[in-house]
Amino acid sequence: MSKSPIDRDAILNMSRSLAKNAPAKAAPKRASRPKVDPGKTDFSTLELYQQIKVQRDMAELLQTRDPYFILHEKRAGATTVVDGKELINFASYDYLGLNGLDEVHEAAKEAIDAFGTSVSGSRPTSGERPFHRKLEQQLCELYESEASLVFVSGHATNVSTIGELLGSQDLVLFDAYSHNSVTTGCKLSGATRRSFKHNNFDDLERIIAETRDKHDRVMIVVEGLYSMDGDTPDLARLVDIKERYGAWLMVDEAHSLGILGATGRGLFEQQGVDPKKVDIWMGTMSKTMSGCGGYICGVQPLIEVLKFFASGFMYSVGLSAPLCVAGSKSLEIMKREPWRVEKLQSNGQYFLKNAQAVGLNTGLSEGFCVVPVIVGDSLRAVKLSNNLLDRGIYAFPITYPAVPMNEARLRFFITSEHSEEQLQTAIDVTAEELRKLEEANFSLAGSISSLHESK
Ligand code: PMP
Repeated sequence: MSKSPIDRDAILNMSRSLAKNAPAKAAPKRASRPKVDPGKTDFSTLELYQQIKVQRDMAELLQTRDPYFILHEKRAGATTVVDGKELINFASYDYLGLNGLDEVHEAAKEAIDAFGTSVSGSRPTSGERPFHRKLEQQLCELYESEASLVFVSGHATNVSTIGELLGSQDLVLFDAYSHNSVTTGCKLSGATRRSFKHNNFDDLERIIAETRDKHDRVMIVVEGLYSMDGDTPDLARLVDIKERYGAWLMVDEAHSLGILGATGRGLFEQQGVDPKKVDIWMGTMSKTMSGCGGYICGVQPLIEVLKFFASGFMYSVGLSAPLCVAGSKSLEIMKREPWRVEKLQSNGQYFLKNAQAVGLNTGLSEGFCVVPVIVGDSLRAVKLSNNLLDRGIYAFPITYPAVPMNEARLRFFITSEHSEEQLQTAIDVTAEELRKLEEANFSLAGSISSLHESK
């Protein structure tokens, strides 16, 4: 590795600004005691709590069951067990079925025997372990990047990376369908935030052309495959825009690693784009990598900055041995067994084509690991999910405000473990149950007006 020359002026400037910013001693102050309403310490008076209660009461009144926090009694893969009953499961991100493999479990157990279940402190202070370095080396090979860094949470990876790299003089442009971890990071950064219409790069270019010269740094953030809609962005077009306008491009590969490209390397492999053209590759370890955590890959200075300034890395514990080793093993198997990626892709295509053939609205899905079935209003989506559960199929409803008001949906996550028979059963039962709800004109507006009539 070549050493960069020492910049003496930069060091002098930094020491001057450190001296200037040294805190002045403040005189101690005595606090007077304000009068506080005693109800202000009662959590049940929080407006957020009232919101949850209203939703629960409403669900009860409209005779739907709460779809949240369902208890799964075994490893949830292509099938699961709820209330002692086996279901076909479409709510697992274990896209390549690796979370169920003995080989992954054995590697994680051996790692626990050698290193325990926790590394107890942050890597800068409590030190690294060989498994951290091995996984980061594998990620560098995957994205052909100079360096990489693993965090303990995918969500924290986005929040800390975006939040720390940008500041008030900067601009961040993100797709309107971005995940909460992206939008939270954007807010935290203090940068000017602009969302562009989903996958609409004319809109992105219009905004960047109007605003580029008002800002110092500019970052564009997209996802490799969108988790609500199952569609992908045009990477070559994004690279062209970011190069012409002098911006950084960040791609979140949470739902595209292991899914896109012949060997599962993700969006760049699928679209034949040089991975080095993307400034920041981000991904999560909770899906294809059968663990928990997140990663960033890019050039050395980017990773150095994150190592020392990304709060979710610097001030958080290092990744534990079993999670890190499960991630390493999963990448190894993905590389060794490309048939898993092929099977997932053929399952996704099968589900998409056959769902469309029976008239289900699959929105923008391209038929990889995410296929939504859009049903209209939120209550209909929840009721459909309840009815499918009764018939042995688990698909989670996504309702307003997570998606637009009239686009509530069930999301089907497809894995390489599903059989075509399971996929077909889910399609047929969904179409049948949806037809029944449509014939009964079951919707939020309809249910509320019949409640008024029955009063
Ligand atoms: N990015 C995207 C696009 C996601 O869908 C998710 C969660 N599913 C995350 C980041 C956060 O990842 P994790 O759940 O592993 O923290």
